[in-house]
Parts: sequence; structure tokens; C-alpha cells
Amino acid sequence: THFGFETVKESEKAKKVHEVFENVAQNYDVMNDAMSLGIHRVWKDIFLDRLSPTKNTKLLDVAGGTGDIAFRFLNHVKNSNQEENCHVTVMDINSNMVEVGKIRSEALKFDKSVISWEVGDAECLPFKDNSFNAYTIAFGIRNVTHIDKVLEEAYRVLQPGGRFMCLEFSHLPNSAAQWVYDQYSFQVIPVLGKLIAGQWQPYQYLVESIRKFPDQKNFGSMIESAGFRSVTYENLTLGVVAIHSGFKL
Ligand code: SAM
Repeated sequence: THFGFETVKESEKAKKVHEVFENVAQNYDVMNDAMSLGIHRVWKDIFLDRLSPTKNTKLLDVAGGTGDIAFRFLNHVKNSNQEENCHVTVMDINSNMVEVGKIRSEALKFDKSVISWEVGDAECLPFKDNSFNAYTIAFGIRNVTHIDKVLEEAYRVLQPGGRFMCLEFSHLPNSAAQWVYDQYSFQVIPVLGKLIAGQWQPYQYLVESIRKFPDQKNFGSMIESAGFRSVTYENLTLGVVAIHSGFKL
């Protein structure tokens, strides 16, 4: 019947969409691993250790992509017996990333009640004031248009006592190390991009965006200007990335 035909067609389409999303996810994950030599996984684990979430944590993970931080958060509270009343909201501006994340979340068998997915802009969050007690953004703030707006919005949606944490590429205080890192960045990364993803321009852009992003101290000052207190940072891998932290008091 016509109805039967449509049903088959629609399930085929859903399957195709699913495949496309899976491909995107796989490419994204492969590129992350290739460019950071797999180290991004270690950075993300350390990031969650530093946040060390406890019971009743309502986390907003902004620019959450395909869920790397959210899944680590859920595993962390589970493994440390702190999962009671914990919840994570993953928000990303790209609905494709969110769709991939949902598929990954199902495959990893996370309970739907502890994770929700939203499409939205970090510069204008679709949440009420004081909605969360933790905010994370990992490899997301570097590419936004107005960093100050993102920080202001983070401050707004956090409850008093809430914590802001950011994981982002940064600058190496040791200039010899920075030189070696620059050689790798400007010469190896675009080539890897070409070999693995078939394009070098986006990876050239990536490297340039890392160089343009404010250094640890300047970014820390921006976080303070948004109202956060007890702002600190920690370098990982000689400052290739840094973790910034601040509290809304
Ligand atoms: N946090 C994830 C991780 O660490 O694997 C994803 C990081 S990915 C490099 C950067 C993400 O930022 C992308 O998914 C992109 O869609 C998202 N993004 C870029 N601009 C954004 C904005 N203004 N608001 C929210 N998300 C944004």
C-alpha cells in the first residue's frame, strides 16, 4: 500500500540520517585523536577530576559537541558514588553535533533522565538566571564571536556559589617549547587535516585561532571582569591547554 511504502521510505531515510551523523561523529573523534595524539582524552579526564562533581550537581556543558564532557561527568559521579540528584544539560549551537551526541548517549546506555540536549548559542543562553551550579565549556570559547558575552551569560545562569570551568588551548610560558609547538601546529596539523579529512584550510584556521586566543593571565582577567571570583588557572602539557576556574559568589 501507499502507506506501507511511505513507512519503508521513512525508515530508510532515518537510517541514512543516522549513518550520516555517525560518520560526522567518527570523523570528529578521529580528528581530535589524530591532532592531539590522543591527549585530548587525558585533558578531559583531568578537567573532570578538577571539577570533581558531587551530589546535586546541575551541570550546563556549553559547546558540548557530541557529549565528551557530559559523559565523563556522568561516569565521574557514578564512579565516586555522587550521582544522587545530578544532571547535565548539553548545549551546542550545531544541531548536527547534538544529534550525534544523542546517538552516542543511547549507544552508551545513559539514562535519559540524567542528560538533556539543547541547541543554543553560548552568547545568549536559553536558560533562566541561577539555573545551574556548574558550567563547563571545553574547546568551545575560542571560536565564539564575543568571549565577554559568553562569560556574562555563564555568570547569569549560575547560582551563587556556582562554578565556571573552561578547558581551552592556551600559550606556553616557555618560549623554546612554544617554538617547537608552533612548528608542530603550523606544519603538521594542516597536513594531518589534508590526509585525514581531505582539507587543510580548516586546520590552518584552527591553529591560527589558538594563537589569537588570549593567554592564561588575560583570559583570567576577562573571567574576573564578568564577575567571577577566586579565578585560577592550571596549565596542562606545558600550557598547550589550560583549565580556568572561577566562582559566582
Ligand atoms: N566540548 C566538546 C569537546 O570538547 O569535545 C566539543 C568541542 S568542539 C571543538 C567546539 C564546539 O563548539 C562545536 O561543537 C561547535 O558547534 C560549538 N560552538 C561554536 N560556537 C558556539 C556558540 N556560539 N554557542 C554554542 N556552541 C558553539
